[in-house]
Amino acid sequence: MSVSAYRTLAAIQHDLNAGKTSVVALTTAYLDNIKANAHLNAFLEVFEDEALQRAKALDEKKARGEATGKLFGLVMALKDNICYKNHKVSASSKILEGFTSIFSATVVERLLAEDAVIIGRANCDEFAMGSSNENSAYGKVLNAFDNTLVPGGSSGGSAVAVQAFMCHAALGSDTGGSIRQPAAFTGTVGLKPTYGRISRWGLIAYASSFDQIGPMTHSVEDAALITEVIAGKDSHDSTASSKPVEAYSAQLVYGKKARIAVLDNTLNSEGLSAEVQAQMERTIAQLKADGHTVETVAFNYLDYLIPAYYVLTTAEASSNLARFDGVHYGYRSPNATDMESVYKKSRTEGFGREVKNRIMLGTFVLSAGYYDAYYSRAQKVRRLLRDELSKIFEDFDFILMPTTPTVPFKIGAKTSNPVEMYLADIFTVLANLTGNPAISVPVGKDANGLPIGAQLLAKHFCEAELFAMSKALMKS
Ligand code: GLN
Repeated sequence: MSVSAYRTLAAIQHDLNAGKTSVVALTTAYLDNIKANAHLNAFLEVFEDEALQRAKALDEKKARGEATGKLFGLVMALKDNICYKNHKVSASSKILEGFTSIFSATVVERLLAEDAVIIGRANCDEFAMGSSNENSAYGKVLNAFDNTLVPGGSSGGSAVAVQAFMCHAALGSDTGGSIRQPAAFTGTVGLKPTYGRISRWGLIAYASSFDQIGPMTHSVEDAALITEVIAGKDSHDSTASSKPVEAYSAQLVYGKKARIAVLDNTLNSEGLSAEVQAQMERTIAQLKADGHTVETVAFNYLDYLIPAYYVLTTAEASSNLARFDGVHYGYRSPNATDMESVYKKSRTEGFGREVKNRIMLGTFVLSAGYYDAYYSRAQKVRRLLRDELSKIFEDFDFILMPTTPTVPFKIGAKTSNPVEMYLADIFTVLANLTGNPAISVPVGKDANGLPIGAQLLAKHFCEAELFAMSKALMKS
């Protein structure tokens, strides 16, 4: 059976148990798809020999009758901002060219402990800054549905790797939508877990109070299973919650009638395309027909989301990216002549344009004269948003929104206008500002067959409900 026929790891494991396939056969098929789709530029590096060797070792383990892990047979890609010991990691930036990780991210250790195979490093926007994967120092990623369209960003390589069956699932990171938006643009499922649900140890930081790692998959079942494996407390990351992790994959039936809120103005917001709006209306009608309650609630903060997000994340980025100085890591300018020019030239030559824009914006909003006007006001907006969502969640189980205002746009369409590009994140940044978990699932297609994603947000640490409800949403 072709690997593109598998929507779930359970189906793969069924065939592995029946002797119809092997981990080597699966890995070989994904490697063949990677070669056939090289033009999509989804991978920065493929661990071909290593993945095949590991696959062989896993087949042998099973043949010996040893117990296999929960992720046995799962071939995965890692976004290139997640560290894997003795492997390169670059955050798609020239500044980390040639850098090799000396330890593995906690999530990687947990995947390997459950017998997953890691097939390669997926391309992304530089330092995860972008919404179209046009900001990578190693070239843009193309959407497999139509190569003139963007796949979304910043986890565009991870999304396309899953979309085009170059692996079965991938990890991405989401600071303002970087898992959910590319998932919506590629017809895949993407989860941004509750802030603190998954350890960030070994994730190259962009904005530490927003960043979360999460799964990108074909099915809610697999997203639930991968989350269950990688979530949980971690002595290396004090922001990782010690709350016990539920068996998400065992509770995928949402037995109740849900109370779902739609934030006022989201469905008639400027920039929302007619196709996405029509799809959301169909989705809402279906949810109501299934007996769920869907109500519009007042929400007056839509216009504040993007400004608050960009003030706070650039501030954090300007601090996080200070470590890339030509001394500690990666690239050092060969043109430097003294101490100061090592810093200046290495950073000027090593960082791309968008990253430099953000470092400068972040430095500006934190500077003594502007701190109160920008940074501290944005923090207040963040608090207001959190309070507002907590209030909404007293009466509702979920908030429903489109994931993106439009279907995937043309490559180059928004590169000359950063504000337009930033507006692509209008519906996704909220969950990062408030820390709530949010998932994007494909719910329909436009007249050209392009995918449309719907997004559900839940209360903090209510991933179990979120998975169960989103499974129902995907089917409806
Ligand atoms: N597109 C958003 C940005 O450019 C989100 C990025 C992300 O989630 N990493 O910041």
